[in-house]
Amino acid sequence: MALPHSTTARPPLPGPALLPPLRLSAPPQSGRIDPALLLSTVARLVASDTAVSKADLVAATGLARTTVSTAVDGLLAGGLLRLDGLRPTAGRGRPAERLALAAEGGQVLLADVGARGAHLAVTDLAQRVLAHTHVDLDVIDGPDTVLRTVETELTRLRAGSAVPARAVVIGLPGPVDNHLGIPVRPPIMPGWHAYPVTARLQQTFGCPAVLENDVNLRALGEARALPADQVPLLFVKVGTGIGGGLVTGGGSLHHGADGAAGDIGHVRVRGAPDDACVCGNVGCIEAVASAGAIARRLGGRGDVPSIADLRAMLGRGDAGAIAAVREAAGLIGELVATLVHLYNPARVTLGGSLTAASDELLAGVRSVVYQRALPLATRNLVLTNSVLGEYAGVAGATVLGIERVLSAESIGLLLPAP
Ligand SMILES: [Zn+2]
Repeated sequence: MALPHSTTARPPLPGPALLPPLRLSAPPQSGRIDPALLLSTVARLVASDTAVSKADLVAATGLARTTVSTAVDGLLAGGLLRLDGLRPTAGRGRPAERLALAAEGGQVLLADVGARGAHLAVTDLAQRVLAHTHVDLDVIDGPDTVLRTVETELTRLRAGSAVPARAVVIGLPGPVDNHLGIPVRPPIMPGWHAYPVTARLQQTFGCPAVLENDVNLRALGEARALPADQVPLLFVKVGTGIGGGLVTGGGSLHHGADGAAGDIGHVRVRGAPDDACVCGNVGCIEAVASAGAIARRLGGRGDVPSIADLRAMLGRGDAGAIAAVREAAGLIGELVATLVHLYNPARVTLGGSLTAASDELLAGVRSVVYQRALPLATRNLVLTNSVLGEYAGVAGATVLGIERVLSAESIGLLLPAP
């Protein structure tokens, strides 16, 4: 083999026999289409507005017209799709029948549980919120008490509806294993480790259940409410604690190997004081720069203000509160600058209780990120507050729930194979 000329002596390249067998990547969909996968593919193409007539579906899938027709008829008969008027076709030919997801095809039950309260909602497949409530609760009370509240409220919100529940989605403020549907050693949730959250909800509501981390839900909700060029998206929530969530360039959540991806609260950054953290380490970003940490600093040896008090202080321009938030923003900015280099997101979104009360946090984080991160990573970066605010989690849960209903796994249970 001819090698490029080099002036320095190098060891010879290893021969082909010395390379281990290397795995080549496969395309996301195999050519084999089983009946459930076919129904799911057709339903998702319609739901995402990618292909909304039989002709479009034939073009999008490359499948035979009869195959597509049978799948569409199955989805119409099963009540997941409906006819939505006529769609003009280009050139000659009759207008095509337009397909849409049937709102009445099922309900999705949502619970976005924070440390001290939960948003509970029922939506239909057309993403309409049919009922919503917020309840105060405390995750410290343990899984049985909290989930009983969630079950009671969701049942109440659904009362009187004949439309079946097709999926239930719950977000919790701690690390979760979303395959097993259990929390994994959540620091602020004693008694929750390994509790079978999805198994319980599945049993209660008789439909598939999905467990996700609360910040991941917000990240997904935010990403799916924005134009498609706003991913990868990094969501950083600054509240009682600090958490992160990452949506990939493909628009889905990045969980990491064990579901711990984005769990950024226990990272330490340059210049952080040695404050003790709930996790047992010192100087974690959550222990020095969260809303809780800022409140503790302002309280000094006296009474620690609540986060609501802190927001009120920021609202009336309290100089001490503003200075403390600026200091925290500097530390969070250091962390975000590092993450920007690692992920090169199109957008970084800040969320949580403080962002709504003041722009100091955003301004402080921006100034550090643009100063610290190299130009290539920040050239097109959008760094801004959440557009959905406290409803980002509900939006993310709606996406996960509807996509779960349309998954091959769920649709296979729902409909007779064509
Ligand atoms: Zn920690």
